Amino acid sequence: MNRRIQVLIVNSDQTFFTLASKWLEPANHLVLLATTGSMALKIAAKIKPHIIFVDASLPDEGSLALCQKLKTLPNLSSSFIYLLANQKDQIIEADCIDDYLVLPVMRRELLAKIKIAHRLVMAESCQEIFLRLAVKLNSSPISEGLLPTVLAELQELFFADSISLTTLDNKSGETVVTAAYGKLAHLNKKRIPKSMVWIKTIQKNGNPLLIEDVQATRERFAFFLEGGLDQTETLAVIPLKAQGEIFGILWLGSGTLINQEMMDFLTAVANMIGSVLQQGLQIKAAQENNILLEERVLERTNELSVAYDRLQELSDMKTCFVANVSHELRLPISNLLLYQDLLKKGNPDKRTTYEEQLSLNIERLYNLVEDILSLSRLEARQNEDSLTPICINDIVPEAIKMVTSSNPDTPVKIHFKPHPNLPLVHSSRTQLLQVFTNLFSNAIKHTAEGNILVTTALQPKKQQIYCTVQDEGMGILPEDLPNIFKRFYRGRQSVQNQIPGSGLGLAIVREIVNQHKGSIDVKSVPGKGSTFIVRLPASFM
Ligand code: ADP
Repeated sequence: MNRRIQVLIVNSDQTFFTLASKWLEPANHLVLLATTGSMALKIAAKIKPHIIFVDASLPDEGSLALCQKLKTLPNLSSSFIYLLANQKDQIIEADCIDDYLVLPVMRRELLAKIKIAHRLVMAESCQEIFLRLAVKLNSSPISEGLLPTVLAELQELFFADSISLTTLDNKSGETVVTAAYGKLAHLNKKRIPKSMVWIKTIQKNGNPLLIEDVQATRERFAFFLEGGLDQTETLAVIPLKAQGEIFGILWLGSGTLINQEMMDFLTAVANMIGSVLQQGLQIKAAQENNILLEERVLERTNELSVAYDRLQELSDMKTCFVANVSHELRLPISNLLLYQDLLKKGNPDKRTTYEEQLSLNIERLYNLVEDILSLSRLEARQNEDSLTPICINDIVPEAIKMVTSSNPDTPVKIHFKPHPNLPLVHSSRTQLLQVFTNLFSNAIKHTAEGNILVTTALQPKKQQIYCTVQDEGMGILPEDLPNIFKRFYRGRQSVQNQIPGSGLGLAIVREIVNQHKGSIDVKSVPGKGSTFIVRLPASFM
């Protein structure tokens, strides 16, 4: 491996230092001198020398004691310590000393010792960095931030000028710089020109490539060289593979030589990065899928829950309706049975009263059944009547006629004040008649004496027709007002005064008005009277 080696020489005599500097500095190694033991300890604690040469005959303190101290410094455990002996008999055997050299030292001899130590130091350093990368890759969540850390680590390890990652964009088929650091940082996110076709070959065959003399083949690397790699000598090109497929290329440019050993190391690291990144991508995709799925499940659950609530509501309404119908039918039927029995066995003088009661209850039963049927037909929207353009001004007098003829003895008078130019409404005639007969008969039933005023009007924007039914009757109690449109609801005063009714009339009115896209409101002052306001959309056909 081509890492710079830091050498510390501990010697009061400078001869060996001068020679070592001359021989080692051209290979880019750093050589430092400490003339005393205490100076050596200070330098060693600061710069972590890879190799330390200690003179066997240091004047101020024992050389062995110094070697022992150096070996126990926490950052020097992997450093190499050589004893520099003047004669063979100065050589000491101790755990803190890794090897020795007898002075004077030949160049070849020193370089051989440096080479061995260098290899060992580098192997340890690689192992350490590999472990550090592995821990980082395995423990961090796969995020955008992980890649820069890993690449920075590699750049430092190899003293690289630049490091970048290119990936193949599957859509466009182009190669894009996904991440770039060092001298090529500004190429980040740039597309690699199509002229660099040889990249495709690497992507296809997946073999790492070591370009040992980049400057000699400048035109091939124009894209990178113009980007700032004018000092770069070597370029390591390593494909990133995951599950047998190449998804990117790692580029490492260095000003010094990159050897095969480095290439093997880089390939191992690239494989590790590749599989971790790929795993990360798969996890991310799975998480995104999961989120989508969860959202859809939630949506469906909400829809189902709304549908379930609606069904529950309908089922409750049905149960309530059946209970109310049975309850309301029970009274006239038991009355019928009672008076029929009295006709047979009762006082013959009261026969007329019994017969009157019989026909009253038959009528009540008939009306009740009619109302129930009307409401069910309305709900099922089974009305056969066709919708036609109708003028409410024509319907109101007809309804007044029907109601007054079935209440011949009423002292109450119904007056009608029609709007002169009322537009038509698109409606069912029978249903509109039912709306007004129900409202008028309610007004008559609840008014002992006085008048009922019916008016038609047109809303200023001419889109809605108003019809108000105003009586001077008993009015509606505030606590009854919110309930009077509910099925079978009868006001307290109506029940107390025994005013006949089923509690279905207004429910039918509201259902018809709603089906015509209209609305109904009521205002009432107890003891003074009530006003019902029906609004229907005007039709301009
Ligand atoms: P009912 O058959 O009891 O008339 P409705 O559904 O038509 O049933 O009316 C419900 C209740 O609304 C009545 O029982 C009554 O208390 C009240 N009501 C309806 N119209 C009037 C009105 N014009 N004046 C006073 N109370 C009314």
